[in-house]
Amino acid sequence: MKSFFLKFTEPKYLLKIAILAAVYYCSAVLGQSFAYSINKISLVWPPVGVSLAALIVFGLDLWPGVTIGALLATVTTQPTLFIALGITLGNTIEAIGAVYLLNLFEFKRSFESVKDVTVFIIFAAALSTLISAIIGTLSLILGGVGNWNSFLPIWSKWWVGDFLGDMIIAPPLLVWSRFAKFKLNYAYILQGILLFVVVALTSIGLFTGTFTQFSFNVQSQFKFLIFPLLIWASYKFKQKGSTLAVLLVTAICVWGVVTGSGPFVMAGNFDQSLIYLGVFAASISLTFMVFSVVIEQRDRAESEVVDSEKRFKSLIENSSDVIVLIDSKGAINYTSPSTYKVLQYTPEELLGTSAFDRIHPDDKARLISLFQQLISKPNKVISATFRLVRKDQSIIWVDGVGTNLLSDPTVSSVILNYRDVTERIKLDESKTEFVSLSAHQLRGPVATIRWYTESLMKAKAFPANLEGNLTEIYKSILSMNDAINLLLNVSRFELGTVEIKGAPVNLRGVVMDVLSEQEKFIKDRDIKVTNSTKVKIPDIIGDVDLIKIILENLIGNAIKYTPKGGKINVSLTPQEDNILFKIKDSGIGIPIKDQPKIFTKLFRGSNVKKLEPRGLGLGLYLIKLVVDLKGGSIWFESEEDKGTTFFVEFPKRIKTTAK
Ligand code: ADP
Repeated sequence: MKSFFLKFTEPKYLLKIAILAAVYYCSAVLGQSFAYSINKISLVWPPVGVSLAALIVFGLDLWPGVTIGALLATVTTQPTLFIALGITLGNTIEAIGAVYLLNLFEFKRSFESVKDVTVFIIFAAALSTLISAIIGTLSLILGGVGNWNSFLPIWSKWWVGDFLGDMIIAPPLLVWSRFAKFKLNYAYILQGILLFVVVALTSIGLFTGTFTQFSFNVQSQFKFLIFPLLIWASYKFKQKGSTLAVLLVTAICVWGVVTGSGPFVMAGNFDQSLIYLGVFAASISLTFMVFSVVIEQRDRAESEVVDSEKRFKSLIENSSDVIVLIDSKGAINYTSPSTYKVLQYTPEELLGTSAFDRIHPDDKARLISLFQQLISKPNKVISATFRLVRKDQSIIWVDGVGTNLLSDPTVSSVILNYRDVTERIKLDESKTEFVSLSAHQLRGPVATIRWYTESLMKAKAFPANLEGNLTEIYKSILSMNDAINLLLNVSRFELGTVEIKGAPVNLRGVVMDVLSEQEKFIKDRDIKVTNSTKVKIPDIIGDVDLIKIILENLIGNAIKYTPKGGKINVSLTPQEDNILFKIKDSGIGIPIKDQPKIFTKLFRGSNVKKLEPRGLGLGLYLIKLVVDLKGGSIWFESEEDKGTTFFVEFPKRIKTTAK
C-alpha cells in the first residue's frame, strides 16, 4: 500500500493516469453521442471497454485514471454530485473486478484460445458489468432520478451498454496492443485496407440510409451479407481482423440507428431498435471472436506440425545412425542419407530392394528368423548385432534395433535403425582373445596340480593332520578348473570358433551323467533330486558337448542356489519339434528386479552372495549363447525364496556347422 502511495510522486505514473483519464473522458463523450432514452444510458458504452483494455495492458495500478475519467464524465453530465460519485464508484469497481477475475483465470490478451474468449465474455463482459449497472442504477434512483419501478428498465439498459462496451471496444484494443506480433508486408497491408474499405462500404449500404438504393426491405433481407466479409477478416487476419471489423460494423450500425435508418430501426420504437442492434452486435462479436480464435489455433497447430516435421527430418538426415523403413516383406521404403556413409550405397540405390540383401550370409538366417518374430506382434522391439556387406564388399558390424510399427497408420512400416560398431567389436574380440589365451595357458599347470593332488590323496602320502588342508586344496583346484573351462567356452563362443557337430544324443543319458557327476555336491547339501520324465525320450540330432554345457550349468546352479535339505526335480517332455527340459528347484529364487538381467555377462543376483560367494556370472550367459546358436530357446519362472524353474527347448535336429 505504501509503495502504491509512493507511486503518486512518480511523474511518469501520474502522466499515465492523466492520459487514461483523458481517453476515458473522450470515449465517454463519444458514447454520449449515441446515448438514448431516459438518463442518458448509452447502447454501447465505450469507456468500459477502454478502461478494461488499459488496465489489462498497462497494469491494474492505473485504476485511478479510470476513477478520475469517470468522475469527470459524470460530474459534467449528471444532475447531482451524489449520483456522479456513485456511478464513478461502480465504474471503478467494474474495471478493477474485471481485470482481477481475468488474471485469476490466466486470460491472455491476444485471445489465444476459446478459453480466453469464454473467460473474457463471462467474467469481464457479463459479470463485472453487472456490478456497475447495479451501483449506477441505485445511484440514479437514490439520487432522485427515476423511481424503484424504473429500476429494472434502467439497470438492464445500463448492463447491455457496458456489456457491449466490453465486447466491442476492448477486444480490438487488446489484440492490437500487441502490434509487434503483426507481420508486415505490403500485400498483406493492401489486402487489409481493401477488406476494411469493402466492410465499411457494405456496412454503410446495409445499415445506414446513405445509399438510397438500399431500401429498408432490402437491408432487412440482406443484412447477413456482412457475414462473408467478417469471415474473410477473421480467416485472413485472425483476431486482429475480426475484432476491428466487428467494431467497424457495429459503429456503422449505431450510426444508422442514431440517424434513424438501417434494418434495425423500428418506426416509433427507438428502444426496440437499439435492442435489435445490441443483439446483432453481441452475436457478431461473439461469433467472429470465437471463429478467429479457432482459425488461429488451427494455423498454429498446422505450423507446429510442419515445424516438428522439419525438425524430425533434419534430425534423421543428419544423424550418423541409419534409419530404414521396410514393409512386412523386408522391402526398403525409405532409408536415411547416412546410409551412404555406412554402406556406400545411396538411398536411391537401396529403395525397393530387400533389407536382407546386404546382410552377411552367416547372419542372414538368424536375422530372417528375428524379423519373423518382430512382425508377429505389433509394437514389438528386437535388437541384434550383425554383419553387413558394404558396396566394396568389406564387412562391418552393426548394432540394430527393429520396431514393428506396421499397424501404426502413420508409419505402416518396420523401423530399423543401426549404427556401425565395427571398432567396438574388434576391441571386444581382442579382449576375448586375450581371455582365451590366458585360460589356455592356465589350463596346463592346473591339470598338473590336479593330477599330483589326486595321486597324493590316493596314496595317502601325507601326515594325517593335513588331510583337511589337502581336501581344501583339491576343492579349490576343481573350482579353478571349472572357471577356466567356463572362460574358455565363453571365449570360443564369442569368437565364433565353435564347430557344432550333429550326432544322435540320448538326452536322458546326458542328464543322468551330469547328475551323477554332481552327486558329491548333492549329498553335501542333502538335496533330494527326483526325475519325473514319464515317457521314453527319442534321441535328438545334436552336439553332446554343447548339450552338456547347458545341463551342467543349469543343474549346477539349481544345486548351488538351493539351501540344505531342498528339492530339485528334472524332467524331459517330447514336443512336436523339440524336447523340453525342465529343472525345478526349491531354492532362493531370483529377485524380480534381477530377472531381466539374468542372462547378461558377469551378472550375479543380489541374493546369492551369502549362499554362494564364488561365481563368475558367466554360466547363464554362456548357455544363452549356446542356445541361440543351436536354434533352441531358454526361459525361466522364479519367485524369491520359493524357487526357480528353468526351461530349455532342445530342437530335435540342431543346426550344425560341421562340414
Ligand atoms: P553364477 O552362478 O556364477 O553367479 P550364472 O550365470 O550361472 O552365474 O547365474 C547368474 C545368476 O543367476 C546367479 O548369480 C543367480 O543370481 C541367478 N541364478 C541362476 N540360476 C539360479 C537358480 N537356480 N536359483 C536362483 N538363482 C539363480
